[in-house]
Amino acid sequence: MEWEIVIGLEVHVQLSTESKLFSGASTRFGAAPNTQACAVDLAMPGTLPVPNEQAFRYAIMFGLAMNAEISKRSVFERKNYFYPDLPKGYQTTQLEQPIVGAGEVEIHLEDGGSKKVRLHHAHLEEDAGKSLHEDFHGMSGIDLNRAGTPLIEIVSEPDMRSAAEAVAYLRKIHSIVTYLGISDGDMSQGSLRCDANVSVRLKGEEKLGTRTELKNINSFRFVERAIKVEAERQIDILEDGGSIEQETRLYDADKNETRSMRSKEVANDYRYFPCPDLLPVVLTEEYIEQLHKELPELPDTKAERFQSEFNLSAYDADQLTQDRDSAEYFETVCKSCGEPKLAANWITGELAALLNRKEISIAESPVSATQLAGLITRIKDNTISSKIAKQVFEAICEGEGSADDIIEKRGLKQVSDTGAIEKMVDEVIAASDAQVDNYRRADESKRPKMMGYFVGQIMKASKGQANPQMINKILKEKLDALL
Ligand code: ADP
Ligand code: MG
Repeated sequence: MEWEIVIGLEVHVQLSTESKLFSGASTRFGAAPNTQACAVDLAMPGTLPVPNEQAFRYAIMFGLAMNAEISKRSVFERKNYFYPDLPKGYQTTQLEQPIVGAGEVEIHLEDGGSKKVRLHHAHLEEDAGKSLHEDFHGMSGIDLNRAGTPLIEIVSEPDMRSAAEAVAYLRKIHSIVTYLGISDGDMSQGSLRCDANVSVRLKGEEKLGTRTELKNINSFRFVERAIKVEAERQIDILEDGGSIEQETRLYDADKNETRSMRSKEVANDYRYFPCPDLLPVVLTEEYIEQLHKELPELPDTKAERFQSEFNLSAYDADQLTQDRDSAEYFETVCKSCGEPKLAANWITGELAALLNRKEISIAESPVSATQLAGLITRIKDNTISSKIAKQVFEAICEGEGSADDIIEKRGLKQVSDTGAIEKMVDEVIAASDAQVDNYRRADESKRPKMMGYFVGQIMKASKGQANPQMINKILKEKLDALL
């Protein structure tokens, strides 16, 4: 039987406002517990919420970037439930009239394909506090620093058909919010969190299967693994004649399994109602238009520009625009050396491998954009070969200075002196009687390939520094003179 996986994601993004959604307390991460929770966040009687305009601006910018409808009128509601990290007894959120309506975003897949994923809506809401279970010996600590931090919850339609598509979608959301500068997108600090709804159905079936909701997935890698393992679990049950229960499940990364948290059958009735403390939010067309005008260049537009302006392949352009820092780095290198293709190759090849190995971001790269441009300039003007360039690159990483410094200090300059190369060619020919004999006797069509042996020997003799084009030219002349 052939199964199809169906996925819809709910992504929570913390907005990087200075202060909270309805209070003036700071949203900075990592402060001592409860030092950034004011009377409003603590739900002291008599306090009233004051909306933070910056959070609305950010939510609207996100909606515009997702080609979504922006609601001219949105309404906050109270979602009532009890939990120790929620002193108000309700979360202020949006339900019937969210600020961002339906939209659409294009995702790019590893195989070069792309597809559209529909956005159901995105709404503004406040984050809850945190319960701390370690260090309290049989009790829980409550930290309300996070309480009231603005979030947008981004709800997709169930449009994804594999774990890889879900990851591509999440990467796209990450890239959009960081390009817009509305969130730092740091998953390890909880700035971007994802719940995955997963169901399976037989290929060709129209009706969606019963879904489970996976909570607590805090990295791109875990999103992929959690969805795969959950889909396998569901398929096993269905193939054994069982049925799927609609429930919330927790992904355990250590065991790579999901387990039941709570059943949706006994789901809470949150008794939503419009918050009497907050007026409906009414936006004018001009306000939205102004924000539209101020949007920065977004990843897809940038990727298209990189293709047309720098003649990059779609794949390279996509790789280089996934995050804003990489794109900026690339443009700086290009501006300084005028070699977009070489710049793209070095950034997605050698530099990406280095950053991966060191587990650091491009913003922390030990090789600056100016240094890489300096290296590329010396490849371009034939001062060094691409092989020697790798050695120079390593030395730049080790902090030995600019490409020019290193080439000078280590004497790596490519040999382009005709006399010197002729001498090496003569020596190798003199020492290779058997190979010269073979070359002479070989069919003309085979000869270019047979030159490889001689080129290799000459390169070796020059420690990789002889100019390869010149070797080829001089060698061919000298060998052909022997025919
Ligand atoms: P709830 O009201 O329980 O949160 P929603 O209908 O709002 O449920 O859907 C929440 C998320 O689940 C959405 O992202 C949606 O795309 C996804 N979803 C809904 N049904 C399915 C399904 N059968 N399989 C996979 N995902 C689904
Ligand atoms: Mg929901």
